[in-house]
Amino acid sequence: MSDAVNIHPAVDNGIAPTLPDFGGGTLSCHCATDAVTVEIGAQVAHNHVCGCTKCWKPAGALFSQIAVVGREQVDVSANEGKLKVVDPGATIQRHACEVCGVHMFGRIENRDHAFFGLDFVHTELSREQGWAAPTFAAFVSSIIEAGTRPERMGAVRTRLTELGLTPYDALSPPLMDALAAQVAKKSGVLKD
Ligand SMILES: [Zn+2]
Ligand SMILES: [Zn+2]
Repeated sequence: MSDAVNIHPAVDNGIAPTLPDFGGGTLSCHCATDAVTVEIGAQVAHNHVCGCTKCWKPAGALFSQIAVVGREQVDVSANEGKLKVVDPGATIQRHACEVCGVHMFGRIENRDHAFFGLDFVHTELSREQGWAAPTFAAFVSSIIEAGTRPERMGAVRTRLTELGLTPYDALSPPLMDALAAQVAKKSGVLKD
């Protein structure tokens, strides 16, 4: 077995730069025929690699790459009939192509959730260049749940840091703060 740490194809050989004024593009699933396509009408935010066991990962990658965009900017433009929600009980409803298994977008339907209104998308499914580059790694320790040996984690975290993807074992501090602030507002501890 190789010692190479394959984080994700979109970062392993250098991360493509974010283009100013980039306005979105088309995501396509991996089906050779009748691909599901999704139009994204804006630049994405909070792009990152994710080690959780729920996000879709390309073959051989330890991490997924995932970003958010306003749900009103996400429009299925072809073969919507092939989409199915992977786990209807999950906070994020991941709409996947039933044939190739690629996740096309994830949506939160709970209006009380801090991230309600944002959809989760994999920008590598688009041919357009200029998407917001990933800037951190989320749920790093969770790759152990998918089969990575704990003693490999030092090498994984070193590689992430080399790539400029600060490793966190939950989400990034701004996103964790947003989740906690929502909880505090709901309980009345935080008044705005
Ligand atoms: Zn497909
Ligand atoms: Zn994830």
